[in-house]
Amino acid sequence: MTDTYYLRIALPVPLRRQFDYLPLANTAASHYKIGSRVRVPFGRQQLIGFVLSIETETAVPVDKLKPITESLDSDTLVSPNILQLCEWLSTYYHHPLGEVLDLAIPVLLRKGGQISDIAEPHWRALSCKLQPSNVANSSVITGKKQLALWQLFQQQPHWRHKELTQQGFAKAQLDRLFNLGFIEPYQQLPVPHCDAASQSALTLNNEQVSAVDKISEQFGKFHVALLDGITGSGKTEVYLQLIAKTIEQGKQALVLVPEIGLTPQTLRRFQARFDVPVVMMHSNLNDKERLIAWHQCSQNQAKILIGTRSAIFTPLPSLGLIIIDEEHDGSFKQQDGLRYNARDFAIKRAHKESLPIVLGSATPALETLHNAYSRRYSHHKLTIRAGNAKPPRMKLHSILHQPLESGLALPVVDKIKQHLNAGQQVMIFINRRGFAPTLACRDCGWMAECIRCDARMTMHQYPPHMHCHHCDNQVGIPRLCPNCNSMQIEALGQGTERIEENLHQLFPGSDIKRVDRDTVRTKDAFDNLFDEIHKGEPCILVGTQMLAKGHHFPDVTMVVILDADSGLFSADFRGMEKTAQLILQVAGRAGRGDKPGEVWIQTLYADHPQLNLLLDGGYHGLADNLLQERKHIQLPPYSYMALLRTECSDKHLAEQVQNQAREFVQSWLNQYWQGNLLSINETQADTTPVTLLGPFPAPMERRNGRFRQQMQIMSHERNALHRVLEPLVHFLENLKGIQKIRWNLDIDPIDM
Ligand code: ADP
Ligand code: ZN
Ligand code: ZN
Repeated sequence: MTDTYYLRIALPVPLRRQFDYLPLANTAASHYKIGSRVRVPFGRQQLIGFVLSIETETAVPVDKLKPITESLDSDTLVSPNILQLCEWLSTYYHHPLGEVLDLAIPVLLRKGGQISDIAEPHWRALSCKLQPSNVANSSVITGKKQLALWQLFQQQPHWRHKELTQQGFAKAQLDRLFNLGFIEPYQQLPVPHCDAASQSALTLNNEQVSAVDKISEQFGKFHVALLDGITGSGKTEVYLQLIAKTIEQGKQALVLVPEIGLTPQTLRRFQARFDVPVVMMHSNLNDKERLIAWHQCSQNQAKILIGTRSAIFTPLPSLGLIIIDEEHDGSFKQQDGLRYNARDFAIKRAHKESLPIVLGSATPALETLHNAYSRRYSHHKLTIRAGNAKPPRMKLHSILHQPLESGLALPVVDKIKQHLNAGQQVMIFINRRGFAPTLACRDCGWMAECIRCDARMTMHQYPPHMHCHHCDNQVGIPRLCPNCNSMQIEALGQGTERIEENLHQLFPGSDIKRVDRDTVRTKDAFDNLFDEIHKGEPCILVGTQMLAKGHHFPDVTMVVILDADSGLFSADFRGMEKTAQLILQVAGRAGRGDKPGEVWIQTLYADHPQLNLLLDGGYHGLADNLLQERKHIQLPPYSYMALLRTECSDKHLAEQVQNQAREFVQSWLNQYWQGNLLSINETQADTTPVTLLGPFPAPMERRNGRFRQQMQIMSHERNALHRVLEPLVHFLENLKGIQKIRWNLDIDPIDM
């Protein structure tokens, strides 16, 4: 045979390489499209991989090559654009391409399913029977129900089977019309639902106008815009009007929102505004729904896609605009497997597809602000609240040496009373669910600790149990101290359950609603609760972060933050940034309607300089200070970082692999600087230093029974960093005994 060829395939295995296979017998190379799926034998398993290229040569001895088992797609499944973006992800995050591609497509396709699997049964009237001359035919139809059914087809010739059964028609009645030759069944892929727009655009204020005008000037080219607007300043309205312009040009828009921010309210707000199909993609969809949304986007039927992190992989053939709402939010970063940041990846995608991307936030990440200050991104500020709402007044309330009533300072209790009496709503925020963060013995000082983690167990009352929030370990509540048998054991500190219980005593007869992962387990529960709150009756809401994100509660006029202190002294260099973002996010819930709001922050550290800076200078005052600090100690965004993590039930092994990695990096760098590793194209070694910090135990060294170690690898130059990471990954992959431990390399980590 003259034209022998091989298929180079990416497989979802943890190996950073590709695999060559023989094609099926008697198939031409043109049969295999780049980006299509094939099933192949791999060891004793059958795996689904992606065709990357068709090669005429292979490094593998030909008698070792196996043929593929079957070809699953007659056409490209992953478009060249997405394929190249996945290749970039694979290189940048040092992650196997096959695993990246696997993430890029819906689960059903990953498992070998086909788009046709989502086709739905439909019925259509046969046109000859619909001719006026044939109306007489209907006389053969007997029975009222049968006739009513046929009348439906006369009004509209095509029906989904489901719609007809929902209207009370049975399969038998449909079959009868079919047997009479009036209708026939067929299968069709679902088309996205779309209502007529019921809301019109608002009249923008000057700042909004300026943002919309300047950003829409950038349509058709790559551009990153930071929409830096305080909560309630009308960022969403700016998104909506930019999207409207995108749709007018016949393009699609992609909106990424944080994990928790995708509420039916958000979807409704978008659907009410546009005449085009809007689809949603989030973790609550089942596999079939997800494939449907993916398909509708890829066919350019859906014009607007609103989704969480992984929606960034969706094929959108005429994408014209990307929006990242709450761009600073941690949920855009995946914390296992491929540890990508969907915001950063979205910027890459916008670049590749030459389109503008808008990053919106009231509290932009310091990385993003830095890019705006250095003019890599355009910077659009919204400084006033839209409509009548005024920014809330914020106050630090010292609780040092002050008596507390169930965790609340007395003046705070009085204030809450005033707001309730005025018929308003109050929100109390505490980022700890459960009854109390720990249980302790008053006689011997014992505390309830998790046997699998270096962490205390949280006490829960409803239902009563001790729960480790780090490994999910659950045990009963001890009645005696396991250490000294004393009965003097008590719950220490406050959690949402305890605050709720105490509030009932402090404010008898008031309506108190708790919002945390234990009370709001389903999307429906979430919706019902928000509908309740929106009725506007006076109440106290007690909750965790769940309350903070993106929701619009026009009747909340007072917000109390109970435990801002926990973030002030964190080991993570982003601790203060995250605390400030959370405080402002929570505070942003107050006074969004016509009534002014106030925010009380209870703290033991009312003198804390950065907390005061936040209150006096706002987020930007604090952010500038934090940026100076980062510059001074050369932390991101003034340097680039990767974190090597190892974990193992054997503490020694987790440490040993880190030490080997450290030695490897050091000797590699030495050789590199001496020029020994230079390729002929490089005339001079790049001497930008790469520095190592650690290995150290992780902040919580033992979790779920495994000991965890980490090492920071940093450089001022992204390239210098990645140049050493590549051989490091290769070294670790091939290290003897590496199978005994878990390791990962986190690029641009956000949790230390
Ligand atoms: P953000 O997304 O910045 O928090 P939103 O877009 O949700 O702010 O706007 C907050 C409130 O202000 C919403 O109720 C919105 O309808 C209203 N709003 C936004 N822009 C305007 C405007 N130009 N005129 C009047 N009301 C507005
Ligand atoms: Zn004891
Ligand atoms: Zn635990």
